[in-house]
This record gives sequence, C-alpha cells and structure tokens, in this order.
Amino acid sequence: MGIKVGIDLGTTFCAVAMIGDDGKAAVIPNEMGERLTPSVIQFFDDGSYIVGADAKEALDYGEEGCAAVFKRSMGESGVYCSFYGRDYTAQSLSEIMLRELKKQAEKVTGQRIDEAVVTVPAYFGELQREPTLRAAKDAGLNVRQLVSEPTAAAMNYAADHFRENAKVLIYDLGGGTFDLTLVQMKKNDRVDVIRTTGNSMLGGKNWDEELAKLLVQKIEEDVEYTECDIHTHALREAEKVKIALSSAMKARAHFTLDDYGSCTVEVTREEFDDATAHLREKTRGLCINLLDSMKLSWRDINAVVLVGGSTRMPQIKKFIKQMSGREPLSRVNPDEAVAIGAAIMANLKAQPYAVQKITNDESVIRTLRKGSVPAKETAVESLQKLSVSDVVAHTLGKVTVNRDGTGYKNQIIIRENSVIPVKVAVAEQFYTKDEGGNESEIIMLQGSSENVRECTAVCRYIVSGIEHDPTHNPTILKVQYSYDANGIVHVQARQGDSDKDLPAKKLPAPDDMSRYYEGISAPPAKAKAEPLRIMMAVDVSGSMTGRPMEEAKKAMCRFIDEFSCYPGDVKIGAMAVSDRTQVVCELTNDLTACREKVGEIEVCMTGLCNEADPFDEILNRLAVARGKKVGVVLADGVWSYRDKAITRAKRCAAMGINIIGMGFGEADEEFLKAISSGEIGAIKVELDELTPTFGKIAQELGGGRGGKSRRLFGGSKTPPTECETWPAPGEQT
Ligand code: ADP
Ligand code: MG
Repeated sequence: MGIKVGIDLGTTFCAVAMIGDDGKAAVIPNEMGERLTPSVIQFFDDGSYIVGADAKEALDYGEEGCAAVFKRSMGESGVYCSFYGRDYTAQSLSEIMLRELKKQAEKVTGQRIDEAVVTVPAYFGELQREPTLRAAKDAGLNVRQLVSEPTAAAMNYAADHFRENAKVLIYDLGGGTFDLTLVQMKKNDRVDVIRTTGNSMLGGKNWDEELAKLLVQKIEEDVEYTECDIHTHALREAEKVKIALSSAMKARAHFTLDDYGSCTVEVTREEFDDATAHLREKTRGLCINLLDSMKLSWRDINAVVLVGGSTRMPQIKKFIKQMSGREPLSRVNPDEAVAIGAAIMANLKAQPYAVQKITNDESVIRTLRKGSVPAKETAVESLQKLSVSDVVAHTLGKVTVNRDGTGYKNQIIIRENSVIPVKVAVAEQFYTKDEGGNESEIIMLQGSSENVRECTAVCRYIVSGIEHDPTHNPTILKVQYSYDANGIVHVQARQGDSDKDLPAKKLPAPDDMSRYYEGISAPPAKAKAEPLRIMMAVDVSGSMTGRPMEEAKKAMCRFIDEFSCYPGDVKIGAMAVSDRTQVVCELTNDLTACREKVGEIEVCMTGLCNEADPFDEILNRLAVARGKKVGVVLADGVWSYRDKAITRAKRCAAMGINIIGMGFGEADEEFLKAISSGEIGAIKVELDELTPTFGKIAQELGGGRGGKSRRLFGGSKTPPTECETWPAPGEQT
C-alpha cells in the first residue's frame, strides 16, 4: 500500500508531509535531506533541468535558465518564461516542480504516493485553482483535493491544540501571498473555517523589493554610482539581508561594482521596518475588514497563529501584538504547518455537499443550510476525531441581462465564505429557436459586485442539445452551479423533467468581456432601443373555432415571448374582436401577464360574426403613446363593414401607427392590404406557418431571441426559481 501525502506548493519553498507510523504528521525531507525545497527550476540547453536548492543557488548567482516565483503568475494566460527555445507557463513549471517533489518523496520513503492533498492560497480563485489542479494531475499525482493553505495550517494547529469554541485567526504571510483566515473549533472535534480573505500579490517578495530600493538608495548616497543593473544586484542581496535582520539589529550587503570595486552598505532593522510599514498596514486593513464583517473585536479572538516564512520577521510579531493586544502564537512551525496540515487532511473523510437555497429578494441566493456533520472516521488513530469544513473566498455569479434589458449584470449565485463543497440548482425559462442546434452560453464570474466590469470572468459553459419545443412555448432549463471541495466551479444543466445532464462544455472565459460592461452603471444611448407599443387584435368569430384559435393563441404567445429580451421599453396589449371588441389585456410591460391573458381568449367571447373592427380601440391606446406604435390584426374571414374598417385603419396610419394585417384561411388579401400600413404591411399565410411568421415579425420589430443560434442564458424576465439539486460531478452519493 502506498502513502497519502500533503504537498505545500509554495511560491518560494515547497514541502511534502505524511503521517508516520507513530500517528504523527511530519515533513518528508528531500533527497538532499532538507525539509524545504526551493521552488526554483534551472533549465539547460539540452532541455534537462534541476529543481530545488541547486537551482536556487544558480538563480542567486544570476545564472541562465532559472525560473522562480512562477506561482504568482498562475492563471495568467501566456508564456511565463522561455529558455533555449522552449516556452514555459506557470502551470507547466508547477507541474515540473510537483513531479520532482513526488519523485523525491517516493525515493526517500521507498513508498508509492497513492493520494495527495495539494495546497493553494485561500485567495486563489478559479483561474488559479484550475491550472494548479491540472498541473498536479499532469505530474502524475492522484489529487484527493486542493485545500487552502491557512485551512491546512489550522488543522495542524488544531491537531495539537484543540479547544472547543476557540476562535483562531490564521495570519499566513508567505513569499508571494497573504491569506487571512478565521476558524472556529466546535463540538465533536470540528474545525470550521468561517471567513477567508487575502491578497495574492502581497508577500515576502514585496519586502525584498522595498529593501532593495533602500540598498540602492544607500549605495547612491555613498558612492555617487549609478549603474542600471544595480537594482537587480540589490534585489539578489535583499532576501539575505532581510533574513539576517530577523535575528540581528543590523546587517550588511556587499556589492562589487564595475569600475569602482567593492562596497558595503549597512541597514538597520529600524530602517527596514520603517521602509516596509505600508506593507504591514495592508495586512491590517484585511484583518479589520474580516473582524468587522463578523462583528467581532480582537477580544473575541482566542489566538493568532502565524504561518508562512515572512512571519519570521520580528516586525510582524510586534505589529500583531500591538494590533491584537496579545502575543501571537508561533507554536506551529511556520514553514511546515501547511504541508503537515495537508497530510492530516489527506486522511480525513470527504465532506458532503451543502445545498444552497434561493431567497425571494431577487436573484440573491445564500446558504441557509450547512453540510451535515460527517461521520468521524479517519485512517490514522491519533487524528481520527478531527473533521473540517472550509469556505470559498470568492462569490460566484454569472453574466445575465438586467431587469429592464438595458445591459448586463452579475447575478450572484453562491456568496463568498459559503461552506464548500456547495451546490445550488435553479430553473429558468429558455426559448429555443425553430430548428436544430439549440445551445446556451453561461459566463461565470467571481466577485461580489453586480457590475460585470468589477468581476473576473473565470470560465464559460456551452450547454448544447437543448431540444426544440414545437409548441414554441419556453422550455424549462434547470441549471446546477457548484463549487467542489477544491473550490473549482462546475455547471450542469437538465431540460424539463429529464434526469440526464445535457452536454455542458467548460471553456475559458471570453478574451474580451467589454460588451458585457455596457449599460450597467450608465447605459449608453446605442444599447437602448426605442420604446415600442404593440396592440394585438385577434378575430374570435365562429369561423376561428378549433385549431385556428389554438394556432392563433400560440402564435401570439410566441410573438410576446420574442420581446422578453427587448433592449428597451416595450409594452404589449391584446384584444378580441368579432361583433364587439374587448381589450383582454391593456398595454403592459409585464409580458408574462400579457401572455396569460392571451391564453384566456376564447372563440365567440365577443359574438359569433365580424360586425366590429379593432381600429378605434387601437387608435385610443396608441395615438398618444411614445415610440414606435404597431397594431397587429389577425383575421381569417371577411369583415361585415369593410369600408368602415378600412377608413378607421387609415386613421390609425395617419397617427403614425403601423398596422400589420395578418390573415389565413378565407382572409381577403386585398382587404388585408387596404388596412395595412408601414414597412411590414399585409401578410397572408397558411395556418401551419402562423407561429413562425409571428416570430419573424417580432424579430423585425426588434424583438428576437430565437434568431441567434446561441444565446446568453438568463435573459428571461421571469426570475429563476429554485429546484431540486442533483449529484454534482464526482460527488459521492
Ligand atoms: P511560500 O509558501 O509562499 O513559498 P514561505 O511561507 O515558504 O512562502 O515563505 C517564504 C518567504 O519567507 C520568503 O519571502 C522568505 O524570504 C521569507 N523568509 C523565510 N525565512 C525568513 C526569515 N528568517 N526572516 C524573514 N523572512 C523570511
Ligand atoms: Mg507557504
């Protein structure tokens, strides 16, 4: 049997840990006997490479072919570095790193690695987690889970210092990232992560850069020497000086300058601390926000645990003591805590999915129920009792058309700090187009703002195989959104009552998201279409009995549906006409209500024959309306008072109302032409063609969702409703 390991894939250092025969988790040293492996790779011209301490040394000496700090660029598209004609991405470099760690750990332990938990900064979003997971899989690891670094550190702490109800703040300042996580220890040896936040661009490297600036400044003061390369020299020295200043009050850096010879500069700890005060302050801001969001004060925090190599700087300990009023704990080894915690987590049972509920306050969905407490059961005795629940750092949403159709917004689906794994399923109306190939596009966002521009587009899904509904009614698409235990996004879709998932392809987010930025804060004029007012009139005389009436109503509904995404103000009304006219629906922008009223129209509701005409009522309602005015009149026979109808229709035309005369059956084409006006004019069709023709007319008037082969899901004006969830990808049921 092989082993289960935890791997801390750090920006500057990596570590691998496992639970030993004594039931204690410990770091596995690398082939050189070191517990930490620098995250540095040196490539040679034949394509071979070395990893770890030797590569780091080469980097420090400024040798060719060295790649470092690539974790910071995880998720950025494109090449991170190129050596000897080969390109490397942050993902491919991570893969090399992980493969090497695996190889060495297997060699040192003499055992095969069966499963691995790989850690990532809590603040890593979809764009960083997805390539990290792929890198680990491509490195030949069977990845049990990606877990957040501070969560792993909390597990390491809890394994030795469990105290029920204690609230512990994990302050994790590594080489490239800062993570801040609040955990609470609960009954039944549960460790719950409550909040997590951070900054993926803040770490020891920033302290190095400030120190390098300070060194350059000092050299220039001393020797009036300016060489463009000096900053690179200084940066190389900075980390050493920084580390020296952690144990001494002053430290020196030596430089060999061309044309000048060697020089030495001295920096005091005080100078260094002053020059980096703004960096400490950035972490204070995040601490305060986190406590505020929980309505907690420092007094409510039982312990602050320091993790990450950069918390070795005395300034950090001092700063935390001064901020929190208590001595921070360094009972965990800040370099090893993450790997050890990950090794513990590699032996815990998987957590069940939490199911989220939609609340009524318009598309806001939040967690109402947490995952149930899992059975307490782990592989290793001494750690058997622990269980952990983690949260996600980023709010998940999708691009959707806003309520008045004037632009796009981020529709929030799962809030940040929701327990993971988590899923939510919603049902929405979806309009298929007439023939074949119905697809829907769903663009996923991370970020809490409703403004798409302020969010990160993380991926998109193309849902295909949506079956066309020949009745032209909207079909129901159920879509399930989830964050798996790795914090990675999944989208699944089902049509109607089917229990089969439709094909859903995950693709990178669109390169250019700018079209979705328009019209959110200030809708540009061009995005908005002119107001539209439409009165529909349908002949309900006796000759419409049976199929004609059914088809007419279906066509009218389809017509209304086409305007569900109209990019402007649209109002539609409907009336029945035979011996009398009756307005069944006054002009309204509530298209769902209008559709319902049309459904209630019945044959002969206003008499058996065709004595009346609809034009006076149309004129009444549209004459003074704003925008484009249209009357759609559907008839199947000949009207009793033709001339009167034509005169009234002409009056409508004179008031700028476009009349579309639609007929089928015995309808008289000459008459239809006489009552029609405007660009579209008179149309005579067969009964079968009625619905598609109504669809086309609607599209010509500026409606239309059916016209595009693929449309953005979520354009419907009817809000999504909650529906039953189903198994998520990889969910064990
Ligand atoms: P990561 O996990 O991001 O690789 P680590 O937690 O291993 O980061 O921390 C590495 C960072 O800690 C580096 O920036 C390194 O310079 C810094 N560091 C390590 N030891 C010390 C020390 N004694 N004093 C100050 N900084 C240190
Ligand atoms: Mg680390």
